[in-house]
Amino acid sequence: MILQWLAPCVAVIKFPEFNMNYLTNISSGERYFSVAEIKIDIQRCKGCELCIGICPKKVIKLSDKFNKKGLHYVRPENMENCTGCALCAIVCPDVAITVKK
Ligand code: SF4
Ligand code: SF4
Repeated sequence: MILQWLAPCVAVIKFPEFNMNYLTNISSGERYFSVAEIKIDIQRCKGCELCIGICPKKVIKLSDKFNKKGLHYVRPENMENCTGCALCAIVCPDVAITVKK
């Protein structure tokens, strides 16, 4: 079992033996199991929504908040549905998404 911080408010406990992650969002209280981890560099994101359109599981949503450039950025939701296919990372023109399985 390995404990890591994905973002200031997101902790992940990894169970490599089961190929499974347990993520906790400290600020929202959201907790979920996931086969993959997604990191989104919100300062790189320009909100073009290409990743939203390509995600087969509708995991990525547009936030109503803004990054430092004044642009809406995307965030993952319902991570338990993510398959780790990495299509979102491949399609992003700004290399703002990293997917780890
Ligand atoms: S494809 Fe990249 S730049 Fe476009 S919304 Fe998704 S993360 Fe942001
Ligand atoms: S890895 Fe695949 S399923 Fe997960 S958010 Fe990206 S496109 Fe969607």
